[in-house]
Amino acid sequence: MKKWKVLTVITFLVVVAIIHFVVPAVLENSMNITTPHEKYAISEKARKLHQEIVVADLHTDSLLWKRDLTQWSNRGHVDVPRLQAGNVALQLFTAVTKSPAGQNYESNDGESDNITALAIAQLWPMRTWDSLAERALYQAEKLSRLADDVPEYISFVTNSTELTEVLNKRSAGKKITAAIYGIEGAHALEGELSNLDRLFTAGLRVVGLTHFFDNLLAGSLHGTSGAGLTDFGKRVVLRAMEKDMIIDVAHLSPRAVSEVLAMIDKPVVLSHGGMKGVCDTSRNLEDELMKSIVAKGGLIGIGFWDGAACDTSPIGVVKSIRYAIDMLGVDHVALGSDYDGSTEVQFDISELAVLTHTMIEQGFSEEEIRKVMGGNTIRFFLANLPK
Ligand SMILES: [Zn+2]
Repeated sequence: MKKWKVLTVITFLVVVAIIHFVVPAVLENSMNITTPHEKYAISEKARKLHQEIVVADLHTDSLLWKRDLTQWSNRGHVDVPRLQAGNVALQLFTAVTKSPAGQNYESNDGESDNITALAIAQLWPMRTWDSLAERALYQAEKLSRLADDVPEYISFVTNSTELTEVLNKRSAGKKITAAIYGIEGAHALEGELSNLDRLFTAGLRVVGLTHFFDNLLAGSLHGTSGAGLTDFGKRVVLRAMEKDMIIDVAHLSPRAVSEVLAMIDKPVVLSHGGMKGVCDTSRNLEDELMKSIVAKGGLIGIGFWDGAACDTSPIGVVKSIRYAIDMLGVDHVALGSDYDGSTEVQFDISELAVLTHTMIEQGFSEEEIRKVMGGNTIRFFLANLPK
């Protein structure tokens, strides 16, 4: 081979290696951050209680990143070994399919998209490069493959019977986590109701209607219109109800949240967020709207990042939880971390016992801790997943 040919091949291989190994790591390290901290001191009482209770979290975007989730990683917030270290019985995995450049909480349009570059940089299949539906399907496949790779640790749960099986295995001492699949923004349907059926078949059970921009279904909390549900949005909600799916109102405009609540009797989830009364950011909803969500049986996941909790320390997050319990009642408050969602947090999922510890320190009752740490979420999914 001529010298220039050898050089070309070597250059090509180096570029591929950089794209494959370096870019995803650099990207994720800059997006999903755990603030450096000393190891948290956990009391013996808290350690024991945390191992005994059922722990659940309503939101992680781990499927978006190029990382082997079967291995304990030094980047991001969630993987299988860390789910086990956190004693997590149920984790909702959500798929992000489009995210605007310059994303913010106040005002975004849907013209630009950062996920296209991310999909290419992470060498996702070409079918995902120009299709939001394919991106959602691909992330469902990733979760499905994960469950196939480590079936003793992850069960891709799509109905209440499968969830009960996981809980029974855990009662028998097995370290298995129920993984439920959701989407963050139903622009992933690309305007086709049939794509909801395709995604249901792929395991979709929790449908977030919008993400950071107004889409074909509704106005976003961070869009430009503040609009309610469109006709297509209403059709998607009704179809989701026919299929016994769950609506996620996180990121939805207040008007659209009210319209969803008026349309359906089934309880909704707000998978990750916070309350304006304790943390006044434009990411959070007014307390009154949160009350109307729980008045219909809804479940609120309290987030661990600054946009949701303002103070992201364990004490700060627990303060948000206390406020939510006092406002909404203990049966409607849950954990909604937003791990791996381009967030900075002060504890990753392996360190969740710090919340149990802090709640004990702050005088929470054992019943409150059990319910918020996972009891409410388990009850909600047992009642609202397809049978
Ligand atoms: Zn989100």
